[in-house]
Amino acid sequence: MKLIDSHCHLDDDRFDDCREQVIARAAVAGVTRMVIPATTANRWEKIKQVCAGHDGLYPAYGLHPMFIEQHHVSHLRELDEWLQRERPIAIGECGVDFFHSRVDEKWQRQLFLEQLQLANNHRLPLIVHVRKAMDEVISLLRKHAQYGGVVHSFAGSQQQALQLYNLGFKLGIAATVDFERARKLQAVVAAMPDDGLLLESDAPDQAGPTHRGQLNQPAFIVEHLQSMADLRKCAVEDLAAILNHNAESLFNI
Ligand SMILES: [Zn+2]
Repeated sequence: MKLIDSHCHLDDDRFDDCREQVIARAAVAGVTRMVIPATTANRWEKIKQVCAGHDGLYPAYGLHPMFIEQHHVSHLRELDEWLQRERPIAIGECGVDFFHSRVDEKWQRQLFLEQLQLANNHRLPLIVHVRKAMDEVISLLRKHAQYGGVVHSFAGSQQQALQLYNLGFKLGIAATVDFERARKLQAVVAAMPDDGLLLESDAPDQAGPTHRGQLNQPAFIVEHLQSMADLRKCAVEDLAAILNHNAESLFNI
């Protein structure tokens, strides 16, 4: 069984002294390909280096809303140049995050809109991060997104899931689906059409209940793949093939 981790921050400094072991352990678990999305402009070069060192690692470049205070308007022009030169598989992460605060509301929205425009200009899918702003993000995607993408670590409602699906967006499902309190997400996973889901770790964050307190790793996605197969009442190998196909077709890999 070969798997794609559609969202993994393998460039994170917390992996600096164990990155090779993490990649090796993932390979043993069957996770042979990974998408590495960016957070801030000063990390793009490291992501490029990490991806250049191994087959099956694919970079995405973007400006993550959680790091809003580190972004500068000049980074948008730099991003445009990077996309032109590096031809990554996607733009991201980008999006809107009102979980921590709304002080930068206008600036977050502007950055997201500019990245939606860049995605259209470069004909790339989007890797979208959204917290406490799902309806607003859906309406922005409806107006502006032309090449689809993924809402990573999805945590919305059934209705929002279907709205995104109808806009050509897939839902990235992280190990949060394994928590007992995640009933709403479990129902969404059970009901989504086959081509609406992606598998992701979001490593090193978002470890599932069996790895609480540990660094999350791409190898662990095997565990919530099994739960997703149980929820969808299908064989784990069949679901793996479907999710691989979904990642391949969205990111053109
Ligand atoms: Zn992320």
